[in-house]
Amino acid sequence: MKRQLTVIGTVAALAVAGSGVAATAAPAGLDGLSLVKTKHSLLGTHTWYQQTWHGIPVLGGYYATHTNDKTGETTVADGRLTVTGSPSVTATFARGKAESAVTGRLSGSLVRNASPVIEVENGTAKLGWLVLTQTAKGTVQSVVDAKTGSTLTEESTVKNVDGTGVVFDPNPVVTLQNESLTDSSNANSSTFTNAYKTVTLTQLTSGVTTLRGAYAYNTSTSGVTSSTRTYSYNRSQAGFEQTEAYYQITKAQEYIQSLGFTDVNASAQKFKTTGYTDDNSYYDPSTDAITFGTGGVDDAEDAEIIWHEYGHAIQDDQVAGFGSSDEAGAIGEGFGDYWAYSLSSAVSSNTTVTPLACIGDWDAVSYTSSTPHCLRRVDGTKTYPSDVEDEVHADGEIWSRALYDINTALGRTVADTIILEAQFNYTAGTNFAAAANATVAAATSLYGSTTAATVKAKFQARGFI
Ligand SMILES: [Zn+2]
Repeated sequence: MKRQLTVIGTVAALAVAGSGVAATAAPAGLDGLSLVKTKHSLLGTHTWYQQTWHGIPVLGGYYATHTNDKTGETTVADGRLTVTGSPSVTATFARGKAESAVTGRLSGSLVRNASPVIEVENGTAKLGWLVLTQTAKGTVQSVVDAKTGSTLTEESTVKNVDGTGVVFDPNPVVTLQNESLTDSSNANSSTFTNAYKTVTLTQLTSGVTTLRGAYAYNTSTSGVTSSTRTYSYNRSQAGFEQTEAYYQITKAQEYIQSLGFTDVNASAQKFKTTGYTDDNSYYDPSTDAITFGTGGVDDAEDAEIIWHEYGHAIQDDQVAGFGSSDEAGAIGEGFGDYWAYSLSSAVSSNTTVTPLACIGDWDAVSYTSSTPHCLRRVDGTKTYPSDVEDEVHADGEIWSRALYDINTALGRTVADTIILEAQFNYTAGTNFAAAANATVAAATSLYGSTTAATVKAKFQARGFI
């Protein structure tokens, strides 16, 4: 919507009565005003009015007076819209129908009852219902035509901005190709200088100073703030892990969206990098939050650990209560490792020093002695059922190897699209065979039988089907 703002000299073009209603007749097509608020600054009084048409607010139309308390001089800011097309002021499309149509479509809940508004678009005014819907990504404002029920306009009321941060991507062992790095009690040193990268932090929510955005939400104790949206810390500072987690989670979600998925954990993922001193991290489905431990190398200093945990959040979002059987649990761990592999492959290359199939190269320096240091690998040779240990992480390596092979054969984009699509069809307590078959079915529907045959062969090679 375009709005014309006219600032009229020092003499009020329109006398405004104290009640907030125009005292003299407004020019045709402008109708009335209602008082919104009066504010007092050091120098004067500022009064804001909402433009109305037959008592109904005109969306985006306003009128303001600024009176200098000393001189009595008044300036007017006239942002009223010309109401053309003589809009009807009686709705023929019911309020309740407008409310349920919008909240249903957006999978959200009503903020308050819809109210009538005049929407002026391309010179023509229409009566609409203003519907505010609370969604996982914040409030969405929709205007539904009160005559036809069609959506006139729709926009998120949350504004996102970019910021700047310093991160590891994916981690210093990979970036520096150095398997001899050690945590050194979380100390920063010149050894790490070339591992730091300055990046753009996207999707930050405007109007706040915290690391909160459309896809990631920092709930760490004493979370860092910046009014300039600059989050530059080194690894010895608590803000570093918070920035790293915000960045890597947001990037993972942006990648998912780039594949066409708009509803795979597409909300602000809560995460915490403080308060848990074990050398471990976890996703808690009951609170939908990820907690990163600080034992050994801080887990949120290694993007591959962040992506693994985010993998759990993805599956929990796709399938209610996912992971209720041993095999589903193993699929969860295997997918998390594979997901870390896939995300890492976009920012680092496969080298002899740090093979891409090695997950958590930096995190693992604290608890492994041989090199390359890996939490786990996704290119193991285990098969089902002979190598099953009834431990979800160990058994997950059979699953991650199948996904890794699919990725190698079909490429990252096709593989990840198939895998994410298939997961929507998993049951909470799925088993390897059912999940493998769901993945083959997704491949068939998305890309056809040749691609599906490749996917099937990779699962057969692991003994799942
Ligand atoms: Zn896990």
